[in-house]
Amino acid sequence: MEISARANAVKESVTLKLNEKVVSMSESGKKVFNLTAGQLPFRPMPELVEGIGKEFAFLKSFQYTAVPGVVELRKKVINYIEESRGVRFRDLGIEVDCVVSNGAKHSIYNILGALIDPEDEVIILSPYWISYPEMIRCWGGIPVEVASSKFESYIPAVEEIEKSITKKTRAIIVNSPNNPSGISYPKSWMKNFANLLLKHPHLSIVSDEIYFELSYFDPKPTYFYQFEPSLLKRTIIVDGISKSLACTGLRVGYSVGPKNFLAAVEKIQAQTTSGANSLIQRSLVTFDFALMEKFLSPIRVHLRNNANVIRKIFEENALQSSWYQVNSAFYFLVDFQSTPVFKRYLKNDSINHALKDDFSVAICSDLLERKGVAIVPGSDFGIANSGRLSLVLEEKPFLESIKLLAEFMVGE
Ligand code: PLP
Repeated sequence: MEISARANAVKESVTLKLNEKVVSMSESGKKVFNLTAGQLPFRPMPELVEGIGKEFAFLKSFQYTAVPGVVELRKKVINYIEESRGVRFRDLGIEVDCVVSNGAKHSIYNILGALIDPEDEVIILSPYWISYPEMIRCWGGIPVEVASSKFESYIPAVEEIEKSITKKTRAIIVNSPNNPSGISYPKSWMKNFANLLLKHPHLSIVSDEIYFELSYFDPKPTYFYQFEPSLLKRTIIVDGISKSLACTGLRVGYSVGPKNFLAAVEKIQAQTTSGANSLIQRSLVTFDFALMEKFLSPIRVHLRNNANVIRKIFEENALQSSWYQVNSAFYFLVDFQSTPVFKRYLKNDSINHALKDDFSVAICSDLLERKGVAIVPGSDFGIANSGRLSLVLEEKPFLESIKLLAEFMVGE
């Protein structure tokens, strides 16, 4: 059968290829430290699991919900966003709504569908989540990348964002806390970003806050709309249960934003997937979101400890130039460019040449083959010669894997 140009244009995931290799190595009896996880490897809260069990008793739990979701859940999510982010839509005169979708990825896909006309530009800040450029292209839009580097702790300069705004720019996607860098954009950055947005009233903002609760150093993440609440009139906040409740497989995400815009999101959802999982939506209605704090508190300590392990091992191996302070989500982006091992990948020993090239895939494959440590190549995140590792592994194997990573980085 012939495949459409659109489907052909979707990039294949390097992560999947790498995972195949991890599986085949493990099956052949090799010890592999898998640091590619994009999810917390912990059982969800018993209160949540019990709540789901109780909903089994009701016929409604197995039937379609309204397309945008169960009303009580949507109200609850709006209240949660208002309380946790310290905003009050009513006081701002914004008629707000919430659409529940099959995961935050689905929320973002629908939002982009409601935003993008062919050839519209959408600004994404590098490093960015792998799916943004592909989703933008799927809707006929053009992703415009704003670069950043390890030297700026992966925080793109607001001035650079401004330079990339054109008449065709429709929206900017901001993801803080960030996957893959593991940092939240600081308060000062958010203030400047808010000022920039005020100068460009034609722009909409998609604020992907899926890692909001996973911040393990104070202060909690801040957002541009906290400084300029009027920006909420053109902002869609995305959140969900995948990361903060350790429920990636249950597929519930939500969008909160202006009601008139979300009506378009709802139309797209109505003609594609209909409402999200009714059983899970209903159990979330009775679930106490305040319990999240108790659940996440030891997890935050665990992530903080593992982040400290990286700092310590990098220090011991004179790899400080690859260190930057992470504070949220559960990732660290390893920069290989300034490490001894990188010399191997330089074709003509010329740094200028190397800066243009991206050896992330080769580096991460070698790391896996030689040391048995799997991390995700940075190419798909928009950062050359890097790899994303996940901080979720138990402390002991994590320490072991970081020691192996350091050995590799120093060229052993
Ligand atoms: N946004 C970011 C930045 C993510 O990292 C992910 C998942 O990895 C998502 C959105 C999607 O989350 P969900 O599992 O709810 O679709």
